[in-house]
Amino acid sequence: MPEGDTVFRQAAVLHAALGGKVLTSSDFRVPSYATVDLSGRTVERVIARGKHLLMQFGDLTVQSHLKMEGTWHVYPRDEQGGRPRWRRPAHTARCVLRTRDQEAVGFSLGELSVLSPAEETERLAHLGPDLLGPDWDAAEATRRLLSAPQRSIGVALLDQRNLAGVGNVFRSEICFLAGILPTRPVAEVANLARVIELSEKLLTVNRLRIRRCTTANPTAGPPYWVYGRGGKPCMRCGTRVRKSELGEAELRKAAVADRVIYFCPSCQS
Ligand SMILES: [Zn+2]
Repeated sequence: MPEGDTVFRQAAVLHAALGGKVLTSSDFRVPSYATVDLSGRTVERVIARGKHLLMQFGDLTVQSHLKMEGTWHVYPRDEQGGRPRWRRPAHTARCVLRTRDQEAVGFSLGELSVLSPAEETERLAHLGPDLLGPDWDAAEATRRLLSAPQRSIGVALLDQRNLAGVGNVFRSEICFLAGILPTRPVAEVANLARVIELSEKLLTVNRLRIRRCTTANPTAGPPYWVYGRGGKPCMRCGTRVRKSELGEAELRKAAVADRVIYFCPSCQS
């Protein structure tokens, strides 16, 4: 599932392929932007902001959000200008951007917009400090988390207004590593600074990895302590990891898709 680390890596790959290059054609396969033509424009840079991917062209930005299934691929173009073979079905392509030697394709994007600088600012205004951004501010993230002290930490961590970048996998893993139950209200989390530090650390170490991993060894064994391990023994204490429905009502209230959460009832309290 795309989280801040995935988006950061995709932005890095897209920037390496397109940054500073002139588009030879563009193809937006969504009705609202079907007539947009970016050919002749130079891609200034591609960056991630929380879970948003931004391709900046100076006076406009192509903003996308991967949501559940989205991804961007970059394919080299051959000298004859032949079409590269895509690794996802063509009918799921939402945006195709070509330079002389590269083709970037956004598949199954959850959001795709072409924005003016003012619209871009407005679209991102709600985001809290970006865990992987140059302006990361742990004190501000703390302040925002504490502004709704009765909210459970598992829900608060997903809310991009508090801190931008954490998704469903990371919130389970952060709560496990901090030893707190995801249902515990923020006000009762004694080690909130540790929670924030773990969030920043886990996203940072994973931002350029192909395979996300929160355990010590990215090459062997399960990549996660608890996420996706419901019913299996906790790797620390042997207690069965629980998959919970708790917090779903809160999630709906927070306008976030219902999502399960995993925790160890012995290691977390
Ligand atoms: Zn345990």
